[in-house]
Amino acid sequence: MPARNILVINCGSSSIKFALANEERSDFLLHGLAERLGSPEAVLHWQRGEQSDSQDLAGGAHEAALARLLPLVEQTLEGPLHAIGHRVVHGGERFTQACRIDAEVRQAIRATAPLAPLHNPANLLGIEAAMALYPQLPHIAVFDTAFHQSLPPRAYRYAVPDALYREQHVRRYGFHGTSHRYVSHQAAEMSGLAVGDSNWLSAHLGNGSSTCAIANGQSRDTSMGLTPLEGLVMGTRSGDVDPNLHSHLARTLGWSLEKIDHMLNNDSGLLGLSGLSNDMRTLEQAREQGHAGAALAIEVFCYRLAKSLAAMTCALPRLDGIIFTGGIGENSPLVRNLTVQHLHVLDLQLDGAANARCVRGVGGPIHAAGHPRVLVIPTNEERQIALDTLAVLD
Ligand code: AMP
Repeated sequence: MPARNILVINCGSSSIKFALANEERSDFLLHGLAERLGSPEAVLHWQRGEQSDSQDLAGGAHEAALARLLPLVEQTLEGPLHAIGHRVVHGGERFTQACRIDAEVRQAIRATAPLAPLHNPANLLGIEAAMALYPQLPHIAVFDTAFHQSLPPRAYRYAVPDALYREQHVRRYGFHGTSHRYVSHQAAEMSGLAVGDSNWLSAHLGNGSSTCAIANGQSRDTSMGLTPLEGLVMGTRSGDVDPNLHSHLARTLGWSLEKIDHMLNNDSGLLGLSGLSNDMRTLEQAREQGHAGAALAIEVFCYRLAKSLAAMTCALPRLDGIIFTGGIGENSPLVRNLTVQHLHVLDLQLDGAANARCVRGVGGPIHAAGHPRVLVIPTNEERQIALDTLAVLD
């Protein structure tokens, strides 16, 4: 059988990320981004080998972007396209692995939308537009939450009345599952260990950030919860706060739930603490120049991250290594260094030169000799979605 080609689509409310993978190649044949969809500035950017280009979409929305993508995919391929893999953020408790999309699966994704009101409707838009354009192809859904369905109840239950779990599905779900799974497999391979007999802590640090404890190939705990707001300090998200903050702000300032929600999701995190930016690069530069808010934001980010990693060790029988990934995890020696300094009780120590070397797609071990493994591993969610899509086809 010739090597199969898979188109991976990650559809947001106003953007579509895409990648065209071939099962025998480690790079993508074509990849890119359609952004500002539905606005007059809608545009499609793509890269094929050394060649990159953009096309104006003239106000087009998701259907228009996918229709423009079709000829690009066909020009790029020598053989046929075999399937489309779709990223879906929330699969609730129903989806424990990737699956082929039919009317019933679409309905289940729609029914889960109250748990991910920003993401699931956008993912569905992409699925429906792509299915209309490529009705003859298998379409596969790969869920961000599925990897975490192996959490035990002690990790996924909140200490709130049982009926809220049974009737309203209030529990911890976790996100970034595709990334945590991908990097933990890479870590095992890089270290000469079997996925099924190795134990990792993974820190996915980007605009959204989460930690995950992976025992013998299974997620056993993770820092995000019912929604992607729980846990670590993020670009604009607060992460954990006292749940009474809501009633405190409502009582003292008269703030509405919508206003508090917006503040915690959009005005908090690195941006809120620094008063400057949600972007770690900007904050690192400002810290160098003596900006106190930027220094504080980085300090809180790293301390909270270290605390979360230490807590996650409770879910592991032993620790084979810590993995840094995501835009910040892959590119910030400073964040890795400050975080690991808080973990000296776990005997962690970095090799300064190796830590400095691992940026811009360069991964590898960064721990000092004789100390527990610390790895930088560039994530590749699109590749993992393509692999999961192939597994469903098989
Ligand atoms: P992501 O959401 O994974 O794309 O990650 C975005 C985050 O990665 C932003 O906060 C960026 O500032 C951060 N980032 C990217 N490159 C660097 C870098 N060289 N140094 C520090 N942070 C970086």
